Formats: sequence, structure tokens, C-alpha cells
Amino acid sequence: MFFIFFLLIFCSNPNPSKETPIYLETYTVEPYLKFKLGPQVFSNLNSLVPFKHKDLDLYESGKLIGTKTQGSIVIAHEFESLEPISLRFKTINNIHYPIDSSSFLLLSAAHQLEKIIARFQTIIISSDFNPQNFLNWIRPLKVIYDSRIEFRDPHFVSETYIQSNAAYLGGQKSMLLYKPTANESVPLSANAQVLAHEFFHGIFEYSFFDQKFDENGLLENSDAIHGINEGLADFFSYLITGEPNILGKSFSLNYYQKWRNFSSLAFKFADIASSVCPTGFYCYGTLLAHSLWASLKNSSLETKANKFTIFFSKLFSIKDQFKDFLVGDLQGQFQKIWSLLMPTLPADFSHDLCPYLADDFNVSLPCQ
Ligand SMILES: [Zn+2]
Repeated sequence: MFFIFFLLIFCSNPNPSKETPIYLETYTVEPYLKFKLGPQVFSNLNSLVPFKHKDLDLYESGKLIGTKTQGSIVIAHEFESLEPISLRFKTINNIHYPIDSSSFLLLSAAHQLEKIIARFQTIIISSDFNPQNFLNWIRPLKVIYDSRIEFRDPHFVSETYIQSNAAYLGGQKSMLLYKPTANESVPLSANAQVLAHEFFHGIFEYSFFDQKFDENGLLENSDAIHGINEGLADFFSYLITGEPNILGKSFSLNYYQKWRNFSSLAFKFADIASSVCPTGFYCYGTLLAHSLWASLKNSSLETKANKFTIFFSKLFSIKDQFKDFLVGDLQGQFQKIWSLLMPTLPADFSHDLCPYLADDFNVSLPCQ
């Protein structure tokens, strides 16, 4: 009797020591983008109940009072009744099986984020950007599942965000995740491509917006900057997962996914805002991601990551020079931004990238 009792305690212990890591059945990302169910080891999870993780805090439900949205970036200052997740799982042979959808999706997301953060620390390193400083800033990243958003401005519709499934919460070091819709072959909220993209919005906020998204800021309200933010986030996701079509795995038949595939452009600059690419500043982002991809596609992953880090670091370092140019038509704005940026890049990188930017954005640049 005692033996059985102790055996049960041991088998269901959700907070084991180092020798007995925490195994959870979730979606896997290894090898990347092979979405399979299986027991995963969580490397940085110190305790499952209550959930204690080196980099992440998990929450569910609650309500956010939002003020505005920009694509997958939501701005909200007030939270109501946000609760730390109460995980529900059963345990068989030391493996914990989530038994409801919120536990399953949030733990799957946590597992992907753990992998993304580990890879981020090994690939995004340059003298201009120290990943540790960023991680120290964003820790703990809040991951919030299925929270209602109420917008005070009726112009914004909460339903849109519940359908978009994943968003970065500007100014709050938080990520919002939602239930999958019927059309998702891989839930967006558990898709490493999408999570890596949202994670990059944190890097962008940290670097470009001086660690705090200012909802009235000039940069924060510029469509050119939104486009750059989205394009860099897609390229970052590609560095992490190796996949240049960020929505391709989740929506094999969704018509949005073809405009996000930056390895094969389905539109030209002149088509943006027309029915050929109607997704606004995301289209500029796809053009930027394409230029980076095309100029670096024959390079090693290390070179790609290194040049990508140089690209965004240099762009951040000259933002005060182009802040005043963020008016007028967007083609003219991009011409000024890229013209200022090109001479700051290493000559070989600028030489390879400049013709693609000029072509994709249909501008004339001082390419060497
Ligand atoms: Zn985004």
C-alpha cells in the first residue's frame, strides 16, 4: 500500500530534479517544421505546478483594454483578471499529458519558444547586438492565452485579433495567443514560424523603439517602419526555422500565405494596396525579406544571421537621421531610408543587397 502510494507520488511528480527532466507531450519543432506530437523535454522549466520557467510566464483568460493595433502588434495598457495558467494534465510513466486545449497549446508554445530562444542566442550575435542584454530586458516574456481584448476605439474590432491567433503586445513584453481557427493545419499559436516572428517584434521594440513602444511616436506610427518591422520579423523567423513562407505550414490553402512567401514574390511594389497585395504594410515587409533572402540565399546560416544582425543594428543606429523623412509617399520614404542605410553596411553586403532593394522597392539607389 505504502509502496503504491510512493510510486504514485514519484510518477506524478511535476517538479522533478535535474536527473529526471520534465517530459511533456506537446507539438515538436525538431526537426524544425516537422509538426509531430510527442514527449518533449523542457530544458528551462524549473517547476510545472506552479509553472516556473527561466524565460517565460504563462497566463490565461482575463481581459485587456486595448487602445490600438498595427497588424499583429496590439497596444493595451490595462489588464483585468489575468490569471497564471492552471495546467491540467495526466501523468503516465513520468510523461505529463495536457488534457485540455489551453494547457496543450500554451505548453506547446512554451516549448517552441524555449527552442527559439536557444537558437536566437547562438545565431544572432554581433558586436552591434548582444542577445543576452535583450533577454535580460524581456525576461520573463509573458505568454497570454485566450484573453479577450476590448478596444475603446470602435475602429478596432476584437474579433480580428481572436482570428489572427498570435500577436505581440507592445509596451508589455507579452505575446497573445488564441485558439486555432478551423482552417489551420498547424495552429498558429503553436507554430514556431509564427512565434519566432512575434518574438522578433520584442527585439524590434527593444532596439528600434528604445525599449518602450510609444503609441504616439513618429516611428511607431509610420507604415514604412511597420513594413520594416514585419519584414525583419519574417526574416528572423526564417533564420530560426529555415522556412521562407511564414504562413505556409498553417494555411496551405489560405490566400494570405502567398503574399508572405518571400522566396517567390507574388506581387510588385506597384501592386501594393491593390487586390494583388492587399495586406498593406505586410507587403512592404515581404519585399524587404525577399531582398535580404535573395542577396544571402547562397550564404551559410552563420553569414545570413550575421548580416541580418548588421542590417537591423545599422538601421536602428541611423533612425534619428530618417525620422523626419517619414512623410509623403511610401516609395519616396523607402528611397531615403535605403539610401541612408547602404553606405553604413559592409561593402560586400551592400554590393549584394542594394540591387535587390532597388528592384523590389522600385527606387533608384546609389548601389556600388
Ligand atoms: Zn508581425
